[in-house]
Amino acid sequence: MASSSKIALSGKSLPELTQFVTELGEPSFRARQLFSWIYSKRASSFDQMTDLSQEVREKLKQTAQIELLEIAHLQISRDGTRKYLFKLPDGALVESVLMSFDDRDTFSACVSSQVGCAVGCTFCATGHMGFIRNLTAAEIVDQVMGIQRDSGARVANVVYMGQGEPLLNVEEVIKSIRALGESVGIGSRHITVSTSGVVPGINRLAQEHLQITLALSLHAPDQQTREQLVPIARKWELPELIRALHNYSQATGRRVTIEYLLLSGLTDTAEKARALAELVRDLHCNINLIPLNPVQTISGQIPFSRPTLVRQRHFQELSGRSGKTVTIRLERGGDIDAACGQLHSLFSQQPQ
Ligand code: SF4
Repeated sequence: MASSSKIALSGKSLPELTQFVTELGEPSFRARQLFSWIYSKRASSFDQMTDLSQEVREKLKQTAQIELLEIAHLQISRDGTRKYLFKLPDGALVESVLMSFDDRDTFSACVSSQVGCAVGCTFCATGHMGFIRNLTAAEIVDQVMGIQRDSGARVANVVYMGQGEPLLNVEEVIKSIRALGESVGIGSRHITVSTSGVVPGINRLAQEHLQITLALSLHAPDQQTREQLVPIARKWELPELIRALHNYSQATGRRVTIEYLLLSGLTDTAEKARALAELVRDLHCNINLIPLNPVQTISGQIPFSRPTLVRQRHFQELSGRSGKTVTIRLERGGDIDAACGQLHSLFSQQPQ
């Protein structure tokens, strides 16, 4: 149970833990012990830390707690996907998801980077909330730690595709990526950051030369349709955005992922497929098609529908003429609103 008067240790780096134990009047090697218990052994209480004396454990209990976030609600899907509603120290709520795939013996966590989101994409449940605040790096990292502690799963991949636009909180996101590598043991190559197209954020990320995967939620190959779906597109138009992706790819040597939402009759037409193939022809990228999930939002049912499988396959074939690999995303947790674009669906409407 989180208590705001105590210092939360999960999410802290080794230097931060060293500062904490020093201020507590303990020798610096205690920081390594805490680091190992929190990140390697995933302890959920100080009593589990058997190589610390009773006296030290009591001292820790008085001043600190392990978790930064509290699990306010957990839903488990028929396919095993777990959707967490985490309560932050100030009472704000965010959602995170743990997914496993039958064909892969690994677990992926989808984390939030903001409470709410200012971008306001018309197909997205979170977009209907508006922006509330940025998460700290520790709050991002502790979503992964909280999921691991609760589920017992070892998270191998992290995707920044939960609530919020990660690149409008780019400095904390960069810190959290480094912390996931250094503290939790999840390297950059196992991390994907998804953006709606925040060009200054893409440029900032490029400077870091991280080996993460950058995913752009493009969703439409022309300016007019993109503006209709992703309002932030008015600020950074397609030519500038595609240029930023080229530069990112050159600076990092990484292939970017183009995420493309298939909406029946709007973005899934043959004309759009050909335009998409043309737009990304020279880009070092692959394409991931996401058939829309029906989602209940605060303002009611959203005004788009999911294309048939035949239309999905036809779009895949036409856009594949760009020479890029085009996949159709396998959704998880659809029955608990944990699939892409479905986070923050109904929890927020419940009294807290
Ligand atoms: S899709 Fe992402 S960027 Fe768009 S409103 Fe939703 S959370 Fe924000």
